[in-house]
Parts: sequence; structure tokens; C-alpha cells
Amino acid sequence: MRWRGWTYSALREPDYDAGYLTQDKRVTNHIGRICDMTLERYFSPKHRDPFKPGTFAFKERDIFYDTDMIRERRKDSVMICEECAGLLIIETSSSVNRLSVCIEIPVGACDRCRDEGLRRLEDGRKKDGYKHVKFINRRDKVYLP
Ligand SMILES: [Zn+2]
Repeated sequence: MRWRGWTYSALREPDYDAGYLTQDKRVTNHIGRICDMTLERYFSPKHRDPFKPGTFAFKERDIFYDTDMIRERRKDSVMICEECAGLLIIETSSSVNRLSVCIEIPVGACDRCRDEGLRRLEDGRKKDGYKHVKFINRRDKVYLP
């Protein structure tokens, strides 16, 4: 290694021991098997994608905000779509708010996702079960508080 004519050939890493840092061959082999298995599963999946366009994939969570002592139960649902990011529906209830919903039509949404979002907004407003109905239509830049 050289810089501005200076040589650093005598530079040594303190406490460097190449033998100590050598990885055991069993660990290397194990990592290699995991890499092979991961690639095999990625390129030749045994199960087809269970999510069909037009259906919803969802994730439910229980969240505790210890700073405010609030418990939230939340369900995030995304409508599977091959043309856009998909309609997002968030239903949430907590120890301070009863069930509410947020509907988000994504930027660049397709007509089906936009129409489904507008239908969900209409249903949400009619439905007596929601305390709050929030709506964001990023495609048409319509934001309802
Ligand atoms: Zn879509």
C-alpha cells in the first residue's frame, strides 16, 4: 500500500491473527448448502403464489405503545394486483379508539383498485361500525381527513 510516496508495508493490524479468524470448513459448507437450498427454492418454488389478483393479503398485529400505554389491534390488507401496487386497507382499533379504517388508493392505481377503494369508502361511511373513515386517493390526489 502506498500513498503520496509513503509506504505502509510495515503497517500491522494490532492483535491480528490470521489463524484465529479462519472460518471452520464445516461452517463454510453449511452456508454453501443454505445458499444452494435458497436458490433452489427461489428458482423452482414447489408452491405457486397463493395470492390471486383481486384477493386480499393481510397481516394482523397487536401493538403496545408503552410511552402512552395504548394497545392497538391492526389489520393491514393489500388487494393483490398485477397492474399496480394494490389497494391498501388498514383497520385499527385501540384502547382509546374503537374500530376505524383507512383506505389508500396508491399512486398509479389501476381502475379496478381505484373503483374498489371508492366502493370501500362508500361502504365504510354507511357502516356504523367505524369510528373514523380516512381516505387517501393518491392516484387522483384526493385526500379526505
Ligand atoms: Zn390495481
